Amino acid sequence: MSECIFCSIVDGTAPAHIVFEDDDVLGFLDIRPLRPGHTLLIPKVHASNLAELPADQGAKLFNAGQMVAAAQRASAIAADGVNLVVNDGRAAFQSVFHSHLHVVPRHDGDKLTLAKGLLIRRDKDLPGTAAILRAQLPKLGDR
Ligand code: AMP
Ligand code: ZN
Repeated sequence: MSECIFCSIVDGTAPAHIVFEDDDVLGFLDIRPLRPGHTLLIPKVHASNLAELPADQGAKLFNAGQMVAAAQRASAIAADGVNLVVNDGRAAFQSVFHSHLHVVPRHDGDKLTLAKGLLIRRDKDLPGTAAILRAQLPKLGDR
């Protein structure tokens, strides 16, 4: 297992609920989601932060973010909006130093449940949520 938890997910030695994968990017559910469906997109090659992330990899990450956002809207998650967020550096609350893009589904009037999510950060059915998103996203080779 790698010292980096996200590299371990890429090499398959740590578990994850994978929702998206292509040659460069892996997407999986956040283990402590702000809202059900909260997805993390990471470059497969380790980059600790934005400064280390090659620009083309950043573009691919954002492109995957657009696809996951569309899936969160179109699937049973039925998002009305989506937050795409990068926490870059400790001062910006980065806690895992393998750069990643948060894709957080939002619903009209969900401020209260989001606040609750900040405290509880739990999805009772991570495998079910992952299956919903996986079914909505293109598979490797489809594009
Ligand atoms: P950040 O604060 O932007 O670095 O976000 C790191 C995110 O990674 C947090 O939302 C964590 O809940 C999430 N996380 C940490 N370890 C894992 C893991 N093994 N699998 C899935 N998500 C994780
Ligand atoms: Zn890593």
